[in-house]
Amino acid sequence: MTALPEASTIWMDGALVPWQQAGTHVLTHGLHYGTGVLEGTRAFATADGPAVFRLSEHLRRLDRSARMLRMELPFGVEDLAAATVDLVRANGHRSCYLRHFAFLGYGSMGLDMRFSPTTTVIASWEWHGQLPDGAAGIRLKTSSWRRTDPNAVPPAAKATGPYLNSVLARREATDAGYDEALLLGPDGTVGECTGENVFAVRGGVLRTPPASAGALEGITRDTVLTLARDLGVEVRVESLLRSDLYAADEVFLCGTAAGVVAVGSLDDRELPSAPGPLTVRLRAAYEAAVSGADPRYRHWLTPVGG
Ligand code: PMP
Repeated sequence: MTALPEASTIWMDGALVPWQQAGTHVLTHGLHYGTGVLEGTRAFATADGPAVFRLSEHLRRLDRSARMLRMELPFGVEDLAAATVDLVRANGHRSCYLRHFAFLGYGSMGLDMRFSPTTTVIASWEWHGQLPDGAAGIRLKTSSWRRTDPNAVPPAAKATGPYLNSVLARREATDAGYDEALLLGPDGTVGECTGENVFAVRGGVLRTPPASAGALEGITRDTVLTLARDLGVEVRVESLLRSDLYAADEVFLCGTAAGVVAVGSLDDRELPSAPGPLTVRLRAAYEAAVSGADPRYRHWLTPVGG
């Protein structure tokens, strides 16, 4: 992993500020208690310049996450969408990763969240993927950590604090020589990975766990489900055991940062094919959608313009 490739500006509470000046006080509430919500979104290069993929879905999920945490978002979804376009244009990216986030800032300390103001930020940088995408697929390991119990902290809220769960699991996996961790939910069924949803293919049927198993309602997951249905593939959102993944013909992960990534092995059990034929077809369909090459999915793209 390389150093963060800096861009020139960051949008902060309504203004574009120089990258190095977008700072915060050490007594920021969110730094101590994880009181923040975030999104990872991408703008892709298309024939008409950069375009943000499924921007309104990302911003609506940010809004839902904030409501779950009882945080007030000072900016509406429409304002944030316009600000995103301004930022990508100001930074002159051809394509980029975008981090929308809002956190409780400086104002009070302690667990009562009511007295800290919300800071809202959009940052962008040129960063592509966070998993190795070797020809043979990634090496996945079931984590000893469980996905957060929905009655402890709701995994449906994409909040900063709960990412410690992902960070612990990722570290355990990489320390053991694997690329990524598979997290089981509190009931022991398959949840998701540290930053991606998981899919299994068997007998031509595509399956992925439901949100009730601790899986994030991923926007790439929704994209893949739509693309698969449009390809005439049978899809099922249902609980999966880890043995359903061991017994699968193909397993892949998907997420905004990762894209569609084949899994080569889970817990040292090799999958029969990586990337498998459906993974290859879905990755191609995904790439055609995000790049604007497939006109059926252009409504998912917000052009940034010049
Ligand atoms: N699960 C987790 C825990 C994640 O952090 C992410 C990345 N946001 C995903 C799944 C994939 O979601 P999306 O496709 O919306 O990026």
